[in-house]
Amino acid sequence: MKEGEGRRVLHIDLTRKRIKIEERRDLFRAFLGGTGVAINLLAEECPKGADPLGEENPIIFAVGPLSALYPSASKTVAMFKSPLTGNLGESHCGGRSAMAIRLAGYGAIVIKGSSEIPMYLTIHGDEVRFRDASSLRGIDAETVGRILREVEKKGAGARTIIRIGRAGERLVRYACAVTETYRHFGRLGLGAVMGAKRLKAVVVSAEKSVEIPKAKRSEYKRVYDEIQETVVRTDAMEKYHDLGTAGKLYGLAKKGGIAYKNLESASPPEEIARELSGENFADRFLARRISCSHCPVGCVHLAALRELYEPGHYFKTTTIPYDNEPIWAVGFMLGMRSAADCLRLIDLVDTEGMDVMSTGVTLAWATEAYAKGLLTKEQTEGLEFRWGDARLYSEAINKIVEGANEFYRNLARGVEHASSVYGGKDYALAFGGNEMPAYHTGLACYINNLTGARHSHLDSAGYDLDQKLAGAGKEKELGLEEVVRALLKEEEWRQVLSSLVVCFFARKVYTAEVTARALDAIGVEGWTAEKLEDLGRVIHRAKMEFKFREGFSLAGLRIPKRIFEVLTLQGFLKEADLRRAIEIYGRMLVGGEGREAP
Ligand code: SF4
Repeated sequence: MKEGEGRRVLHIDLTRKRIKIEERRDLFRAFLGGTGVAINLLAEECPKGADPLGEENPIIFAVGPLSALYPSASKTVAMFKSPLTGNLGESHCGGRSAMAIRLAGYGAIVIKGSSEIPMYLTIHGDEVRFRDASSLRGIDAETVGRILREVEKKGAGARTIIRIGRAGERLVRYACAVTETYRHFGRLGLGAVMGAKRLKAVVVSAEKSVEIPKAKRSEYKRVYDEIQETVVRTDAMEKYHDLGTAGKLYGLAKKGGIAYKNLESASPPEEIARELSGENFADRFLARRISCSHCPVGCVHLAALRELYEPGHYFKTTTIPYDNEPIWAVGFMLGMRSAADCLRLIDLVDTEGMDVMSTGVTLAWATEAYAKGLLTKEQTEGLEFRWGDARLYSEAINKIVEGANEFYRNLARGVEHASSVYGGKDYALAFGGNEMPAYHTGLACYINNLTGARHSHLDSAGYDLDQKLAGAGKEKELGLEEVVRALLKEEEWRQVLSSLVVCFFARKVYTAEVTARALDAIGVEGWTAEKLEDLGRVIHRAKMEFKFREGFSLAGLRIPKRIFEVLTLQGFLKEADLRRAIEIYGRMLVGGEGREAP
């Protein structure tokens, strides 16, 4: 690949069926790639107040300077205006996406407009084709992948197929996009944005390679080997391979830090904790592990679920990816008593192409609201929501996707919206409009959920800080200000990782010092640890600026009362502390002193 190709931006206009390729040295030089470049493109391309489901809302896919060149730099960033929260939409995904986009010769792809007919795009180097996807309409995400793998064989070794299922087509606000077979741009509704554009899939393939400058080759090999050694021979990423992320579930449940049945408690019964543990999934169902391209870790755990087609008929075996969050969302959160039932729900949500966390939290709210008499049988079309009923939840998921009636159409807009229509806000577990992750560990996880730019636990890993503090008996010692500062610092550093774009699971490998050397060894010179940290701050502020521009307000954040009623690892939380933390965060955001954040 020629020098500069990793800095090219491919613009695709679905309305006019036109493309434009431009080189954006300015952006890639200043912001590296990934999140840093994407937030700038989003600010340029997305008009203020744009309808997230309108044709003005761009979809931006961006990779980084380390993509395809170093181990575990395997993620792609998707950015868009979120149809779920109405502000920043950002989601990360692995599979082969990063390698394919980079080797196709792009640092970023911007898709705007909308098509009159269902369409899919093929991007093979500079060759972009607009294909009729009418025959793929209404087809689930897994089958679409299978069909396109057969039809679009070009560059199959470095090919990614990003597609949506029925949920995206039907504009479920938390629909996801699936890549390859087991990875997702999960959160904040990329699937719905694609669906609104009638874009069923994007196939990117390539046959190029990235050239390292001659003078740098021996240095590149040295740094590469060092990183590879850390990844495979130290304990930095070991846990992700063995039991995978599901390995933490049992311990978290025992500690009393995981939301169970819509946070009725944070301590599930022992038999449930065992049944839904990573150990049980591995013992009974683990078939194999796979990896994203250019990552030796293999954290993607695949279960084989063998069951009868119908009573009396022979077996079928379904391969289902599992992780801690899916198991939590449709397992613990829905009071599931069987790991096999939990896998069936994960499979259904995956096939329809929905964010599993938002789906689980929304159904959990509906179950509690139904039990409390806020919802009637007429509204639910006869479904009597109750904990642990996998068949019922499957029917409900189908009804959400199909938009069966007004109630299910409201559920398709997420729990923030549904609770604003039917009540039950005190236990509607969304933060900043995004449904909560698994953790009920303490103050830091909720500061993270509320103030993080994506309202995702991955913004600043507050759950991790809570557990460290509780483990060291220091949760009372660290003042609010220090907790907020630590979270903000973590979130800022993560902007660097997601601009490179490195998998967050490799965050212990890519320290600031290693990152600076890794960049230098591929000819991206001049980055020091200090400069990288400054960049993280700049990117984070740009993301928050976009949120504020689109109406997000720290002062307006709703905090569900439920989180104050259930014991955490730090005892009961107080609303006054959380409100105070949000204020401190707002002050730090604008550089410490001076003007108030919105
Ligand atoms: S650690 Fe897992 S998610 Fe991250 S790049 Fe590797 S295989 Fe993909």
